[in-house]
Amino acid sequence: MLASLQLALDKRKAEGLLRQRRLLDSPQAEHIVANNKPYLSFCSNDYLGLANHPTLIAAMQKAAGDSGVGSGASGLVTGHHRYHDDLEKQLAKFVNMPAALLFSAGYMANIGALGALVGRGDAIFADKLNHACLNDGGYYSLAEFNRFAHNDVVALENLLKASTARHKLIAVDAVFSMDGDIAPLAEYLALCEKYDAYLYIDDAHGFGVLGEHGQGSLNHLKLKSPRIIMMATLGKAAGVAGSFVAGESVVIDYLIQTAKSYVYSTPAPPALSATLSASVSLIEQGDDLRTHLRSLISYFKENLQCKRWQLMPSETSVQPLVVGDNLEALALSEYLQGQGILVPAIRPPTVPVGTARLRISLSAAHSLDDIKQLISAIQQAEQAL
Ligand SMILES: *Cc1c(COP(=O)(O)O)cnc(C)c1O
Repeated sequence: MLASLQLALDKRKAEGLLRQRRLLDSPQAEHIVANNKPYLSFCSNDYLGLANHPTLIAAMQKAAGDSGVGSGASGLVTGHHRYHDDLEKQLAKFVNMPAALLFSAGYMANIGALGALVGRGDAIFADKLNHACLNDGGYYSLAEFNRFAHNDVVALENLLKASTARHKLIAVDAVFSMDGDIAPLAEYLALCEKYDAYLYIDDAHGFGVLGEHGQGSLNHLKLKSPRIIMMATLGKAAGVAGSFVAGESVVIDYLIQTAKSYVYSTPAPPALSATLSASVSLIEQGDDLRTHLRSLISYFKENLQCKRWQLMPSETSVQPLVVGDNLEALALSEYLQGQGILVPAIRPPTVPVGTARLRISLSAAHSLDDIKQLISAIQQAEQAL
């Protein structure tokens, strides 16, 4: 087996697909120290700049002092601390849902929730560009797994019309992690009504950023229905770690009993939940941060002059610049790195073959000067490469 593992690694390297980790020696922020060098970074999903916020650092230190550093047991044994419970109630209220359940990561939430909500005899309908963990949740659930072309409402309707499954669940990213566009959730909800289906949305990149006070994609699109189950991560705009699923109380009560990644897993430390409670308050009060972020996004889109590579039509913090070829995307990323700017080159299988891209992630922590520096470096690269 070891020889074939080595062969697979060698093949990845030859194809320009070998991924390498940088060693970070600073907090996550817009200016970081990676591999011992200072960089301006457009890599993180810390969209509001909360990952190194003094209020949250103080909240974590205080909570560690009074609740310790570990949860010790599954939530169903003795691991469900008051800090977890307070955060679940706060999150449910914030996203305007009856109830919420914490998971230790977004990956765990999607696998656990999809695995519990549907099974053999049921069907999932998934966008082809969904995040990997929605696919894994789908496979793990043993429900029939149907994929439809990106944002294609007609293709989805045809699949729903033909389905004889007992329960039907549409599962999609609300904001696509590598494209930055928003799914047509209102149209999907109308299909749910028409075909007695349910809608599971992954709001990893909308929570904290979109909607009134950062409530997320559902609020942004003014959608509310007992047919909706939402999940969001707490390691992106919320700046900490973890995730939650929110929906009708019966859904959450059922997940507490049956979502295996909840039942058989130790919750994240209570101190993280206390930190997240402070983070949700900052998100709620963060209209200035979101206004600044939106102005950076508009400035970037309006001022980048680049003919060779195409910005995708995204209005969110995720601004993908499509290069196409894997090695060229890598060369562009390396060129920017030489200029002191980090932007990840995203290649297959994370994105479809032939659409390798720079995934430029904008944050409220960036200044207008940071954006100008990025624009000028990309324009130089267009001439230099
Ligand atoms: C990051 C991400 C996840 C995974 O969340 P983690 O908390 O990082 O495990 C799930 N879905 C989407 C769309 C994501 O971008």
